[in-house]
Amino acid sequence: ADDVALDPWGSSTVSDYRKLFEEFGIEEFDEVLDEVPNPHYLMRRGVIFGHRDYRPVLDAMRNGDDFAVLSGFMPTGDPHIGHKLVFDEIIWHQQQGGDAYGLIADMEAHSARGIPWDEINEHSRDYLLSLIALGFDPEEGELYRQSDNDRLQRLAFELGGKANFSEFQSIYGFDGETNVSHMQSVVTQMADILYPQLDDPKPTVIPVGPDQDPHVRFARDLATRMRFFKVTEAFASFELADAERPLVAAAHDAREEYAEDPDVPRCGEAADWLADADLDAAGVLVAESVRESAVEKLENAGMEPLRPRIRFFARQATDEAFEALIEDIEGEKRRYDQHIDAFDVGVDEAEELAREVEAHHGGYGFIPPSSIYHRFMTGLTGGKMSSSIPASHISLLDAPEEGYDKVKSATTGGRDTAEEQRELGGEADKCPVYELYAYLLTGDDDELAKEVYDECVGGERLCGGCKEQAATMMREFLEDHHEKREEAEEVLDSLDIDLET
Ligand code: SF4
Repeated sequence: ADDVALDPWGSSTVSDYRKLFEEFGIEEFDEVLDEVPNPHYLMRRGVIFGHRDYRPVLDAMRNGDDFAVLSGFMPTGDPHIGHKLVFDEIIWHQQQGGDAYGLIADMEAHSARGIPWDEINEHSRDYLLSLIALGFDPEEGELYRQSDNDRLQRLAFELGGKANFSEFQSIYGFDGETNVSHMQSVVTQMADILYPQLDDPKPTVIPVGPDQDPHVRFARDLATRMRFFKVTEAFASFELADAERPLVAAAHDAREEYAEDPDVPRCGEAADWLADADLDAAGVLVAESVRESAVEKLENAGMEPLRPRIRFFARQATDEAFEALIEDIEGEKRRYDQHIDAFDVGVDEAEELAREVEAHHGGYGFIPPSSIYHRFMTGLTGGKMSSSIPASHISLLDAPEEGYDKVKSATTGGRDTAEEQRELGGEADKCPVYELYAYLLTGDDDELAKEVYDECVGGERLCGGCKEQAATMMREFLEDHHEKREEAEEVLDSLDIDLET
């Protein structure tokens, strides 16, 4: 089924992850993997498959600068092994030095799903216990529930002032029947995403499933709208050399051209775009008209002398003249490139300055939040893993024996007969049991994960034994997790989180 539409409250499965790259501009995680110091196994194994603007977070991580991680949980049922992916992502970022936030989206659960408050309280407690049991450090990080956080609510109110109903319609498909509390829970969620930056702007990553991407995009947009101090104004306070001013202006103009683009290109790219227009051999005449306005802005930077040459070429149209022109332009481009490097630094400094000045003047100075996206786990019974179908998932509250049984009765990517399996190998890529190994059971042990995979597709592994091994590991995981949850009780009770009201 073609169910690529992203709906935060739908029962999303994603049939084709590639479409997310093409249609929604989510970038492939592979492209930044090399830049991640000590990547988590979910990153190494491609479970975390996509990101939006993750680089600023990585830069901060590598340079020892401040950054934050935040994700939320809607307490509509028990936390299960699918939620564990997000727990692990938050915890890993905390261990890399990030300020970590885990929040309970209780307002959303109540308004969008109609869950009664007493159930919400119980589930909230269970989510937080598992998060702490898996390694979240609440002394260093912050846990909160939406309804109980005044600063969050004030921020939500401010953000609501920058959003309007027609956006809710187009982003979320809200209509005349949508209840007002649901809309309030959306601005609350926008506030959640920006909350780590309330005191100090910093790169922030939101680990989520791809169905939550509309929230991320909207929050990025609102972060920008909350800025009242423009980067261009920051430039005014820079002592730019005269020769650079027009180039910066030109780069900004090009940037304006791309203002519709959700990811506005860097000034360097914008300037490249101008330079490329110069080099488009077949379109020199077109280039002239493009340059008509550019030349004016660039004249102080040494581009003006080219103008008569273009005119000359336009008249003569000889190969010789053309070669000479290209040579001139390339020479100019080299000069131009040197400037571009300087602009990039200039832009970074200007943005930094803009934020500082803004924060000083009582503004927020938000940096648009980044996100990373993980794959959904397949249900143990095939199809999607769903909180409302107990056999499809293993709850983090399941008794160890129950977890064992669920793995034993899971569907597999195995063949009809043992003979066939030995001959053709199993289909690990379609096997929920293999997913259990890769996403959870083998932990950091890449060799074991690879061994299961290779043996399966090589026909050396049969499903009966494979499931027995996985089921035993699952039982051990749950035993250990339950012990740690018990230890977490005391920690949770010592925190100032009201789980009764
Ligand atoms: Fe799945 Fe294991 Fe069977 Fe392979 S051998 S299909 S991984 S259960």
